[in-house]
Amino acid sequence: MWIGGAAVAARATHYGEVTNPATGEVIRQVPLGDAADVDAAVQAARAALPAWRTHPPLRRARVLMRFRELMEARRQDLARVITQEHGKTVADAAGEVTRGIEVIEFATGIAHLLKGEFSENVGTEVDTVSLRQAVGVCAGITPFNFPAMVPLWMYPVAIACGNTFVLKPSERDPSLANHMAELLQEAGLPDGVFNVVHGGKEAVDALLEHPDVKAVSFVGSTPIAQYIYETGARHGKRVQALGGAKNHAVVMPDADLDFTVEALVGAGYGSAGERCMAISVVVAVGDVADTLVAKLAERARRVSVGAGDAAQVEMGPVITAAARERIRGYIDRGVAEGARLVVDGRPLRVPGHERGFFVGPTLFDDVAASMAIYRDEIFGPVLGVVRVASLREAIDLINANAYANGTAIFTRSGHAARTFQAEIEVGMVGVNVPIPVPMAFYSFGGWRASLFGDLNVHGTDGVRFYTRLKTVTSRWPDDGSEAPGFHMPMLG
Ligand code: NAD
Repeated sequence: MWIGGAAVAARATHYGEVTNPATGEVIRQVPLGDAADVDAAVQAARAALPAWRTHPPLRRARVLMRFRELMEARRQDLARVITQEHGKTVADAAGEVTRGIEVIEFATGIAHLLKGEFSENVGTEVDTVSLRQAVGVCAGITPFNFPAMVPLWMYPVAIACGNTFVLKPSERDPSLANHMAELLQEAGLPDGVFNVVHGGKEAVDALLEHPDVKAVSFVGSTPIAQYIYETGARHGKRVQALGGAKNHAVVMPDADLDFTVEALVGAGYGSAGERCMAISVVVAVGDVADTLVAKLAERARRVSVGAGDAAQVEMGPVITAAARERIRGYIDRGVAEGARLVVDGRPLRVPGHERGFFVGPTLFDDVAASMAIYRDEIFGPVLGVVRVASLREAIDLINANAYANGTAIFTRSGHAARTFQAEIEVGMVGVNVPIPVPMAFYSFGGWRASLFGDLNVHGTDGVRFYTRLKTVTSRWPDDGSEAPGFHMPMLG
């Protein structure tokens, strides 16, 4: 654990195993924190709060500027740790660190972002100013699939706003959290402003119930996101809880197919499909389907699968043996339900990594909306093609899906793209962009079962989430000014 500016031994008596998914070997033990561990971290965060929230925003930003430099310098080392615990390729892991660094860069503009509003003479000689002030101790609970980027969506903005923070990272790949804590300290962050508690449900529940935690940011699967939202709200906290996804890419008959296929294969199989913005459904419109499926199959068979730190590898293993079995089970189920299995990733074995958690790229055609492989988030390298007759049918299909994180359309028609953009009910939309993750100075979040709460992460929504609005109305009466009476004040 990292509490009050130091690595502290866990009080925990339970430990979880961290495996290297490429080899199947247990490489670390992670302490599973309990309520006492959480309380120690929250107390450290609470103690650091008064000084940090009154620290001028520009000075808070300067700490983040130094942190940004350290992250940049260590990017490759951090990427290797991610690959070792998560399995994704080193280049992909370095990319996630870069996307996280961009949020730090955004947060260094906090002095500007915190500027309030001011109106002179809202009434006679009465002025109003609005302020954005820190919420207090904030907690972040994060998933395994982006051990650097997702925490970085949260805490740079939170601490830039003057809050202190407790991070509960995924117990599957927990090391990045400690490395980032060390770099924050090296950057000059005062002790206690950023803390790490490892663990699972017990630690999460202790954070949700702790009276001194004022705001909770969560990213993970939908059932847990809903639980976090409801439980956190019941305990009086503000909550943003980002959930799972089933992202569709619509391919119009006029799309540039070679460009589209390359984009879809990267978006479907990159990081073994374990991205919340991964494309898992391809919606083939009209007569594009036969050629599209043939090209997808040809490219899927050529994806180079192996250990994430090996040269030329495009796709690594999935996170655990249980995840591999779940994904294989979905492939079995798709076959049983009548989808056409075009490329089968189940038999894949990687020489020299026989005990690694590998599933090969898998492609289904003739997927129907009633099938489990369509409805459920598989979170693995499985792409399903649904054939529809028109753009209207594609839009209706996507709008009826439970999830609504990201979606994309591939077309050369501005009109089709504009219709899609206007009518699709999904939080993040790409036009010839397969994974439309907004940059740090925009906000990230889905609709429906992909986000519980009102505000997205980072960007201006992040600043709103991590601040409370205070509106001050003031007058400075001179001798003889009329005092307010018994009636409702009417300033205007
Ligand atoms: P998960 O929901 O299993 O775990 C997320 C976090 O919740 C972890 O820190 C975990 O320790 C904790 N947790 C797990 N079970 C819990 C329980 N019963 N009670 C309380 N806390 C619990 O998710 P995961 O498998 O780590 O990550 C993959 C999921 O995250 C996918 O569904 C993916 O779509 C989603 N995700 C979404 C986004 C997004 O932006 N919407 C981004 C990344 C990942």
